[in-house]
Amino acid sequence: MKWEAVIGLEVHAQMLTHTKIFCGCATTFGNEPNTQTCQICIGMPGVLPVLNKKALEFAIRTGLAMNCTISGYSRFARKNYFYPDLPKGYQISQYEHPICEHGHIEIVVDHEVKRIGITRIHMEEDAGKNIHEGTGGYSFVDLNRTGVPLMEIVSEPDMRSPEEAAEYMRKLRSIVRYLGVCDGNLEQGSLRCDANVSVRPKGQKEYGTRAEVKNINSFRYVERAIEYEIKRQIKAIEGGGKVVQETRLWDADTGITESMRSKEEAHDYRYFPDPDLVPIMVDQTWIDEIKASLPELPDAKRHRFVSDFGLPAHDADLLSSERATAKWFEEAVKAGGQPKAVSNWMMGELMKLLNEENKAIDACPIQPKQLAEMLHLIDKGTISGKIAKTVFDEMYRTGKDAEAIVQEKGLVQISDSSEIEKVVDEIIAKSPKEVERFRAGDEKLLGFFVGQAMKATRGKANPQMLNELMKKKLV
Ligand SMILES: [Zn+2]
Repeated sequence: MKWEAVIGLEVHAQMLTHTKIFCGCATTFGNEPNTQTCQICIGMPGVLPVLNKKALEFAIRTGLAMNCTISGYSRFARKNYFYPDLPKGYQISQYEHPICEHGHIEIVVDHEVKRIGITRIHMEEDAGKNIHEGTGGYSFVDLNRTGVPLMEIVSEPDMRSPEEAAEYMRKLRSIVRYLGVCDGNLEQGSLRCDANVSVRPKGQKEYGTRAEVKNINSFRYVERAIEYEIKRQIKAIEGGGKVVQETRLWDADTGITESMRSKEEAHDYRYFPDPDLVPIMVDQTWIDEIKASLPELPDAKRHRFVSDFGLPAHDADLLSSERATAKWFEEAVKAGGQPKAVSNWMMGELMKLLNEENKAIDACPIQPKQLAEMLHLIDKGTISGKIAKTVFDEMYRTGKDAEAIVQEKGLVQISDSSEIEKVVDEIIAKSPKEVERFRAGDEKLLGFFVGQAMKATRGKANPQMLNELMKKKLV
């Protein structure tokens, strides 16, 4: 029997506000424990929270960017549970009336565009952090994170594979970074993901029982954790057992998910409207203002790169994922680079070199205009595509222009047929045995001859001319 996975993600994104969601404490990451706290965020009795307007604006910004409806009326609710890192005994979140609903975003997987629904985006406060390791048998609580504003972005169960889930998370990261509402830093926990996973026989309409996998903090782990979970569930069912509704914890070290607790239902939390916070009424004028301030977003850019530059969806998706990358691409094209050629060099050589040094494209030693100039040298036939790799490496290393490097290193392509002919004759004269075999029908040997000639010219022979001349002389 063929199985199908059904996946929905809940992503927590930490908003890039300077202060917390209900008090004026700083949100700086990594400071001394419990130095960024006050009576409000540590939950003293009698204090009153006040909503940070910037957090509300960021949530609306995100909702608009993800094609959501923005609620004119929304409000906060208390989610009641006990945990040492939650001093109030409840978390202020949103329940019945979230700020954003009914949106969608697009992802590209296997060169296909797919739409993923966004059920809702709501605001909530983060909890503190329990520290167990390296504390000599004690546990400590750091409340610096308590009250830091989060958005919880809940997707529809629209994903069908681990790859789609990872792509969705990448796209979310890309959008919140474009918007400037979250830094998308996975290592620091600015973006955290829980996955709801179930399996069902292909063709069946009803969903299977789902398990929630928590604690996923990288794109690679999204894929691996979900992959593991799908296999585990199929194995359980095929072995005559069943999947139970529960919360499972992903362990990155062992690569497995483990049962943590039975899944709580919403009613376990005894949600009720927070009486300390007034309902939020957002007027249309403000929503329109925020909408007008949105930058061109990755999906819009991707569509434009496809329609204006004729790029394949896959290229357009990669190039539009980061604002700086998209800008670099557009500048290179504006400077005269042929779009697909620019894309190929960026996604190939350029990304390789940048990744090796873990460098952002902002810090790239090659300017977009310089790539366009190098591409022009290829088009003119001054250098071959192969030599261009050497030139490009040198440009990256020195920041010099392609033209200067070509002159300095004597890399001009040989397109003089008599010069190439001379080399071809030499190679043929040196390899009588191979010539015999070639003439007896071993045509694969053409590669050998061309390779020898290329070597003799240090890669500078015009490849088309060399190929033609070699064939002509050998037959
Ligand atoms: Zn505070």
